Amino acid sequence: MNYRLPAPALTWKKDGAPKSTQFDDIYFDSQSGINETDYVFIQKNNLIERWSSLAKPVFTIAETGFGTGLNFLCAWRAWKESAASNKTLHFISVEKYPLSKEILSNALKMWPELSKLSDELIANYPVVCHGLHRISLDNGNLQLTLWFGEASEGFTALNANVDAWFLDGFAPSKNPEMWSNSLFNEILRLSDVGTTFSTFTAAGIVRRGLQSTGFNVQKVKGFGIKREMLVGILEEQPLTFNQRMSEGLPWLSVRSETSTPKKVLIVGAGLAGSHCASQLASRGISVEVWDRGNEIASGASGNPQGMIYPKLASHDTPLNRFYLAGYMYTHRLLSRIDPSKKIWNDCGLIQKPITELEVKRFEKILSDKIYPEEVLRQNQEFNELFLPLSGWVKPKELCSQLLNHPNIKVTLNKPLVKIDQQSTYSWVATSNESSDTFSHIIFCQAHTSSIADTYLDLPRMAIRGQVSSFVLNKDLSIDNVLCHEGYVSPPISHEKQRHLHFGSTYSLNDSDETVRFSDHIKNLEKLTQLLPNHNWQKRAKDCIGRVSFRCTISDYTPIVGPIFDKKVLQETYAQLGKNAKWKSNLTSNPLPGLFINIGHGSKGLISTPLSACYLTSLILNEPTPLERAIERVIHPSRFIIRQLKRAS
Ligand code: SAM
Repeated sequence: MNYRLPAPALTWKKDGAPKSTQFDDIYFDSQSGINETDYVFIQKNNLIERWSSLAKPVFTIAETGFGTGLNFLCAWRAWKESAASNKTLHFISVEKYPLSKEILSNALKMWPELSKLSDELIANYPVVCHGLHRISLDNGNLQLTLWFGEASEGFTALNANVDAWFLDGFAPSKNPEMWSNSLFNEILRLSDVGTTFSTFTAAGIVRRGLQSTGFNVQKVKGFGIKREMLVGILEEQPLTFNQRMSEGLPWLSVRSETSTPKKVLIVGAGLAGSHCASQLASRGISVEVWDRGNEIASGASGNPQGMIYPKLASHDTPLNRFYLAGYMYTHRLLSRIDPSKKIWNDCGLIQKPITELEVKRFEKILSDKIYPEEVLRQNQEFNELFLPLSGWVKPKELCSQLLNHPNIKVTLNKPLVKIDQQSTYSWVATSNESSDTFSHIIFCQAHTSSIADTYLDLPRMAIRGQVSSFVLNKDLSIDNVLCHEGYVSPPISHEKQRHLHFGSTYSLNDSDETVRFSDHIKNLEKLTQLLPNHNWQKRAKDCIGRVSFRCTISDYTPIVGPIFDKKVLQETYAQLGKNAKWKSNLTSNPLPGLFINIGHGSKGLISTPLSACYLTSLILNEPTPLERAIERVIHPSRFIIRQLKRAS
């Protein structure tokens, strides 16, 4: 697997429009591009009329071939001018040969009337890297999900309900591979009764392909001088949404029945909880955050300086794709919320191999050119990796910034003691003295989710970590975060007192909460490996430290998703005990409104922002930002299902 993608082969026409030399076809018509998009995709999907009477809070468009984003920008503009503009437009697109940011920006210069929107798109355009990218625009009113890779592969990965399809992409005669049966099958899987499509082409392969899946397809007059084009509607969909998303594995489904969140309780004010609160609040939802501590980020999220450190693999797994996507998402999010870089810095991170095995892994990553250069490249030193989107963050300041929102109320010294279900989507949560009612609860308290434990098996471990620091008494220039057995972050240049932060110890089965001198010595040894030629040990007496306990799951994978009742799962899917390969259409719903988000270990800076985006999309019943394979890997029910299967 290679996460690099081929660059598009294109040339520029005299009027400044791009043209694909690979497919010998245009991206748009330079004279009438906007009018053509309006006619073919917006009018022929009947969007303005549908939006004027839109009953639900989100409308989802999916497109084949993002190209220059012109269709996307036109849809966004039409939405903003429509009666539905206070709701959310979700736009999904796939692109196998993504334009670079520079080419995109050049191409969009053709359309000055769209410049306000295109500037926002360009500023937030993701790194060209294989996989799913979620971009939040227009203060969250517009959610863009981009799959960079083959179209049908992207739609296979998706968990979404599409209302209208824009079937673009180069002409079927020039690009027959894209218009495949597997693409048509995925279009059906992601469509419901009433879903429409329109496409500029009238080619038989497209007409027959969509007809065979069940769409009612019509030929209508094409744009301008074009004679014909196709439109269609799905009139029947025998499978429920959950059946289509879970495809025989309902125990790992993630959707509940729809509900509008009234008030959400988030338990835990660390990184996991703060990101969830921020994302929900920014989508207009009222959130309460309870924490048993007397300050926010009192656990592992409270270290003074943390690293953005994804530890990318030399082989492709859903978990590696999760961390890769999280790494890029975190960088986009931090760039957006703190552009002046007061609480973080993307100074890059140098990763030095620790073992022989790691030397080999790094060699493979570099020689196979697995990652795009913007994501990971070779450092000057042979055998070292450089991660340019990495750097450091002040996690506690980040939590504080995230929680500072008018829709969020934070209460400290407020442990959750019990929850009682009143009715569907109505939970009474009780703390020491008081109770309140919430439609949804997200358990984000790493070690103390005893209430979630009543429903689920949660095999978590607490790993003690002590970090150390001292005040620098002379200049020390480090440009990047350095990681080997330990790590050290560059001192923060805009702070008066320049601390050197380094760490960390890593001990299982150790519940000592006190800072130990012997651990400072260990951390100083690791610092000496990273920065030799200094007598660091002599600073041992100046060290201050902090101890926290990272919540890690036995399979070293976070637990993020809806909570199912263990007993219900065991009863409904007992058949798995006889046949581990059993597939079923027997749905069972998660406990309505209960979610969990824990086990981020020492990678919370990377995994908690994207996890929060994921949970927000589940709560709002929107397309999710994670591939379905990733949703299954981090699924809270996985241990119960593994237990059931083991019996077979
Ligand atoms: N909708 C685009 C716009 O608004 O600029 C124009 C799309 S252009 C006509 C077709 C796009 O489909 C190209 O960007 C091309 O790279 C992409 N494409 C072609 N084959 C593809 C495939 N198999 N999977 C995904 N994208 C593909």
